[in-house]
Amino acid sequence: MKHVTILCLGIALFAGHFAYGWGDKGHAIIVSIAERHLTPKAHKNIQSILDHPMVYYASWMDNVRSNPLYAETASWHYANVDEGESYKTMTKNPEGDVYTKTVMVIDRLKDRSLNDSLKTLYTKYLIHLVADLHCPMHTGRLTDLGGNKFPVKWFGQPTNLHAVWDEKILESAHRWSYTEWCENIDVAGEKERLVMASGTPSDWLNQCVDICKKIYLNTQQDTNYSYDYIQSHIETVETQLLRAGYRLAALLNEIYQ
Ligand SMILES: [Zn+2]
Repeated sequence: MKHVTILCLGIALFAGHFAYGWGDKGHAIIVSIAERHLTPKAHKNIQSILDHPMVYYASWMDNVRSNPLYAETASWHYANVDEGESYKTMTKNPEGDVYTKTVMVIDRLKDRSLNDSLKTLYTKYLIHLVADLHCPMHTGRLTDLGGNKFPVKWFGQPTNLHAVWDEKILESAHRWSYTEWCENIDVAGEKERLVMASGTPSDWLNQCVDICKKIYLNTQQDTNYSYDYIQSHIETVETQLLRAGYRLAALLNEIYQ
């Protein structure tokens, strides 16, 4: 019984730690970038199934995670990969992960017979999951719960590696609103955008895993990080935001053509 209690407590802690993904701002930036690159037809079709602009639902999946109706989605935000492992060699979460569920949602949305209420639900899932699939610490190690158990200091304040990458670098780099972020980073030409949007969800996941492995190599526990860390990593954050936005736009343009 004691073991069961400890196991349940472990699962509860584990689930609770992954509630925020990119943080509200990161999710809003990604969905806004995608929205800027939708075809007029895709934009119109999406508007007809959502009762608000897409960005309204950017963090919706994080907000409904504690709602029992959406309990099955709790593990969909991440895919842990331990040191010395790859996604392929890791034991898969039987409840699903950010990769398997992104693929599932894309498949469902491409099914022409999908009814409108499911189309609405799966679109809300897609705009969040593609973003989480590009959030580096969401492919962090299972042994430290994706960096949640990797203590560091940020400008002298105790935090953890997961939080640094979800929002602290982004929030500390500029005091911009999500629309200002979009205006300032979404400056790639069409050719560059097409290159960045290419690949499959499997490629995108492996790219994220590679980035995450480099982060572990370049970050030490119990160390104070500030301006130098932002300088070293802001380009990676911006690239992941752009890739996620452009790839999400490409998927939506294909689904809602
Ligand atoms: Zn999330």
